[in-house]
Amino acid sequence: MKTISLKVNPRRPSKRKIQTAAEIIRRGGLVAFPTETVYGLGANALDAGAVRKIFSAKGRPLDNPVIVHIAKKEELEKLARRIPKKAKILAERFWPGPLTLVLKKSRAVPKAATAGLDTVAIRMPRNRIALELISASGVPIAAPSANISGRPSPTSAKHVMQDLNGKIDAVIDGGAVDIGLESTVLDMTVRMPTILRPGGVALEELQNVIGRVVLYRKKGKEKPRSPGMKYRHYAPRAELILVGDSAKIPEIAGTLRGKKIGILATKETAMRYTGAVEVVGSRKNLREVARNLFSALRKLDESGVDVIISESFEEKGIGLAIMNRLRKAASRVV
Ligand code: AMP
Ligand code: MG
Repeated sequence: MKTISLKVNPRRPSKRKIQTAAEIIRRGGLVAFPTETVYGLGANALDAGAVRKIFSAKGRPLDNPVIVHIAKKEELEKLARRIPKKAKILAERFWPGPLTLVLKKSRAVPKAATAGLDTVAIRMPRNRIALELISASGVPIAAPSANISGRPSPTSAKHVMQDLNGKIDAVIDGGAVDIGLESTVLDMTVRMPTILRPGGVALEELQNVIGRVVLYRKKGKEKPRSPGMKYRHYAPRAELILVGDSAKIPEIAGTLRGKKIGILATKETAMRYTGAVEVVGSRKNLREVARNLFSALRKLDESGVDVIISESFEEKGIGLAIMNRLRKAASRVV
């Protein structure tokens, strides 16, 4: 299959190119497109056959459900049932935006999208291209991140092509993303709203609006409630070592003789290191770190390092999501 690239201006997306992409979605094809979080790989969420193509293109485990994207808040009622009051309040406050709500699914949603679960994850993104694509398609769009499963998520059309060229019908190139990490996934089907995956909306922001919100922790042998959480994720090809106290990094690097080492550092600390150093941003601006994180991991991979040593970040605000991704990508945490 030849993957076509549709380059569009993110502020004034060409109607014709959006229509071309929407037509592919309606025909049951796959289109990668930018959202404010990361690039998504979209298919008609109401067409089980189209949704199954997402799983094969990405090599995604079949038990990992996908997020269904809508362009208008009212569409929520068609896809979910028994929507709690607090979920409506959150949608009002954070949509369009990087918050995904897990709710009881309606019959309109095929089991292929929910991996057999009776719940569905729904989000209204705020990227203009994403919204126009969903509207022009006339159907909700199922879209996980547009990468090969397990790899760092794509934050540019170039990343999408690195992973999926030849496996999908089209990619809309709308430039760089804004947030750089995925949405916050919040389970609203339980008494205590539970974050299954930290992301673009911070825990503290949710608490400010609906009161108590908890972070999911798997208990003992229990099946993880968010199936995606059991897999290694976001991982570069190189081995990733996540280091709590960055003062120890030069010493740890010294023990890895014979290996080519890359370091994921910040503006404040970069001068301490030598060799392949990738600066993700300033410690004073974790939004910048989030935006650059996945592309920094891909760049270090491209530079051919065997091991990436990464600094850690304070788990406040978006820092919680940054550390969640780094832990899942790491083969070792010291
Ligand atoms: P991705 O679309 O690749 O960013 O991943 C979507 C995330 O949402 C994964 O961690 C999924 O396991 C999670 N998810 C999607 N649908 C559900 C659901 N119905 N219940 C719980 N988690 C879900
Ligand atoms: Mg993903």
